[in-house]
Amino acid sequence: MIIKKVQDTIQNYFEDNSGVTGSNADFVAIAETENDVSAFLSEMSKSKTPVTIAGALTGNTASGLAFGGSVLSLEKLNKISEVKKIDNNEAVITVQSGARICDIKSKAQSESWMYPPDPTEKNAYIGGNISTNASGGRGFKFGVTRDYIKALKIVFSDGSYSFIERGKWFADKNGEIIFDTSNGKKHIVLPKYHLPVIKNAAGYYNYLNADLIDVFIGSEGTLCVIVEAVLKLIPHFKDAFGGIIFFENRDSSYEFVNKIKNLSKKTKEEKWENSVSAMSLEYFDRNALLMIKNDYPIIPANVEAGIMFEQDIYENNFDILMDKWIEIISSSGIDLGKVWFASNLAEQEEFRAFRHRIPERVNELVKKNKIPKVGTDFAVPEGKLPEIIDFCDKEFKKTGIFNLTFGHVGENHLHANIVASNKEEYEQCRQMYADIAQKAVELGGTVSAEHGIGKLKHVFLEKMIGEKGFKEMAKFKKSLDKFGILGQDNIFPKIYLF
Ligand SMILES: Cc1cc2nc3c(=O)[nH]c(=O)nc-3n(C[C@H](O)[C@H](O)[C@H](O)COP(=O)(O)OP(=O)(O)OC[C@H]3O[C@@H](n4cnc5c(N)ncnc54)[C@H](O)[C@@H]3O)c2cc1C
Repeated sequence: MIIKKVQDTIQNYFEDNSGVTGSNADFVAIAETENDVSAFLSEMSKSKTPVTIAGALTGNTASGLAFGGSVLSLEKLNKISEVKKIDNNEAVITVQSGARICDIKSKAQSESWMYPPDPTEKNAYIGGNISTNASGGRGFKFGVTRDYIKALKIVFSDGSYSFIERGKWFADKNGEIIFDTSNGKKHIVLPKYHLPVIKNAAGYYNYLNADLIDVFIGSEGTLCVIVEAVLKLIPHFKDAFGGIIFFENRDSSYEFVNKIKNLSKKTKEEKWENSVSAMSLEYFDRNALLMIKNDYPIIPANVEAGIMFEQDIYENNFDILMDKWIEIISSSGIDLGKVWFASNLAEQEEFRAFRHRIPERVNELVKKNKIPKVGTDFAVPEGKLPEIIDFCDKEFKKTGIFNLTFGHVGENHLHANIVASNKEEYEQCRQMYADIAQKAVELGGTVSAEHGIGKLKHVFLEKMIGEKGFKEMAKFKKSLDKFGILGQDNIFPKIYLF
């Protein structure tokens, strides 16, 4: 274990992508082995010292930032195993929690396998991705991080550990689960609040008959330290193409998206080989596109919305699928001359840079203004997206503060970013965010579908589960982390712990 105390040498642990300032800790502990994690946590429990687990600190909600106590960094636990083939459709890879997503993806790809979760930020660690149940652009076809976690090795705050395999331990109808740890059997009872049955990363997982592994995924560093994960891989596509379509009105973009969503669903259900089945469907509003127009002059000045799609190819049917897309685009009344196509994997990378450029530009503004980022992460049930986008528009017009919206339209999941330039505007942004969160909940949605709640979004989660939900979460957390030392103030306010 490496312990760093000199403040100059630990400053980089006090900043993440949230723009939150004031993070601090007495020291940073950098684990060199899994046993280090266990010994450290047991020591911290004895002295009741708070421990904030730091991944790559690319998170948006300040959940990896400490406010007192210690930081536990997993950066040196970054081993990636060889790929192990199970059959023609599945392989597995075992990774330590400090392994970067980009390294895991390229290791898998070098052997023609794919780790499908595709968050835009590839420098994040797998431990961070698991703890936030990250997703990203390709969630439309492939789902979220949770769907690719086959097993986890976790360490609890008393130093005991458990190896949790998917499909081994489930909650009974009362939410009770009994499982094995190195300290013997553990009995837990899940919280009872209701979570929406859509893409969701808010609050502890408590769905009916929950698999124990899912309870730790998305728990934002509050229940355990993840030290190792076994990931599911699927065959990598052979090729892919995509397009960015610029629309002069938003309704046409929604119509196009609905058409593709319905067709992709049908293709999957009917197992059609030569039919449209989008891998990703991403939305950009006018402000998001105009913000990067200098970098991408191809964006027309009169644009109102952009839709980016990707199609993955597994057989020798590239031309057939390309023709199908062209047919759909033309029959939707879209001028093909206004579509930016990427017709191979190299060009596809340009799209990814384009997609990445938007949050990157927002982050630059946030850093320049030194005001925390206000970015929604809501998802709403099918059919409710136009209503919430209109609602956001009305909110934004009230103040005129610079805003932009982009995200995963295929899953009705968008990031509306409101960029405050001073403290007064920040308060107005938080109020707008609260109103948008309320609306998302009223529509049956969630306030966070991929970034989690962290330290910034308690008030929004409260709209979903109420104060009672916070109390249930605190009780649940303490059944696994007796002294409440892990990830304090993540997901729910720490006052509920003591
Ligand atoms: C440009 C940009 C684009 C992004 N795009 C996406 C996107 O498309 N989709 C998406 O979901 N997110 C996105 N993010 C957000 C961010 O990358 C994710 O939230 C990511 O999962 C954070 O991983 P990290 O390693 O940086 O974790 P950190 O930010 O360091 O920590 C996140 C949380 O995980 C906990 N944690 C970390 N490691 C462990 C561990 N081993 N055990 C237990 N808890 C742990 C921390 O305590 C904290 O609560 C983006 C960020 C940026 C900067």
